[in-house]
Amino acid sequence: MIGNFCFENLPCRVVFGSGTLSAAASEIERFGGKRALVLTTPRQDDKGRRLGAALGPLFAGIFPGAVMHTPVAVTERALTALKECNADCVVALGGGSTTGLGKALALRTGVNQLCIPTTYAGSEMTPVLGETKDGLKTTVRNIAVLPESVIYDVDLTLSLAPHLAATSGINAIAHAAEALYARDGNPVIALMAEEGIRALAHALPAIAAKPDDREARTEALYGAWLCAVCLGAVGMSLHHKLCHTLGGTFDLPHAETHTIVLPHALAYNAPAAPEAMQRIARALGAGDAAWGIHDLARRLNAKLALRDIGMPDDGIDQAADLAVTNAYWNPRPLERETIRDLIARAFAGEPPAPAE
Ligand code: NAD
Repeated sequence: MIGNFCFENLPCRVVFGSGTLSAAASEIERFGGKRALVLTTPRQDDKGRRLGAALGPLFAGIFPGAVMHTPVAVTERALTALKECNADCVVALGGGSTTGLGKALALRTGVNQLCIPTTYAGSEMTPVLGETKDGLKTTVRNIAVLPESVIYDVDLTLSLAPHLAATSGINAIAHAAEALYARDGNPVIALMAEEGIRALAHALPAIAAKPDDREARTEALYGAWLCAVCLGAVGMSLHHKLCHTLGGTFDLPHAETHTIVLPHALAYNAPAAPEAMQRIARALGAGDAAWGIHDLARRLNAKLALRDIGMPDDGIDQAADLAVTNAYWNPRPLERETIRDLIARAFAGEPPAPAE
């Protein structure tokens, strides 16, 4: 049955396909940009320079220094670069770390952003920016950080190694899964969420089997876009809160953390969100949502234990305490001991807890 709901469409312009990077100059001109600063990570410096050359007179300079979790010190160096080359807009070419830097610059200066995502993290569709300073991560929600234009080019994702595609893809699935039980969810986002999960669950094993499978890479990027829209449109719950806490406290890698925690968070929320779980399971082609994700991660050879990605043995209680402080909405009330058990299972790489 369809109940009352509120639906707010965020402004979003998307150019999707193969070879679409060639639209970068026209997208910059479309929002009135004259001089663009290209942002990348050190690893993607060469891609950024090739894009800069293709931009011709629109290219003002490059800042290849983006890093995970958007540290304010890096943003300040990028701000200096922006001023020195007299840029009036930015082009963020990379994963969520690069997108985050573009957003941090937009928040401080109002520059327009063209975002060209090369992972499935999804930040490009959200008005949310997470920044870190002195080891503390803060999050702001402000429409000013939403990119003006986004180019998805499948060709850029071909270099994403299958193990990175796997964890980045399950990171995207997490957005859609939590959107299906969001307090402010709505029927349109639910459609996108289910289709996003279906596309990724279908494409990721095909990418693992044949990394240059263009059709699968296209389907995965399409699914990632749908999941990203879900992340930008509705509120997230326990799973995202846990990953935020674990990542920030123990400096764990973003996509891997999401991949490990998701089955456990879904098992925790299952009794309180049966309809959402049915839709997730259906999209996965599995009998159960939590087990379906666990099985997908296993088939993709992803790491299944937080202890294998750098979480210390004595971190479980600290993480459980942090997960229940600063109360936030979740379909199931936050129970410290059960959440501790959830984290302990994820730490050890056990399967999700059996249904209650
Ligand atoms: P990332 O951007 O840190 O990329 C991981 C590594 O992969 C980097 O070294 C990068 O250079 C490399 N890489 C990226 N694309 C590649 C490609 N196609 N081929 C080869 N190498 C490639 O990782 P991520 O998971 O995309 O982003 C994580 C960050 O994004 C975190 O800081 C997270 O908090 C943030 N994030 C924010 C939001 C939001 O809405 N604010 C949403 C999702 C993620």
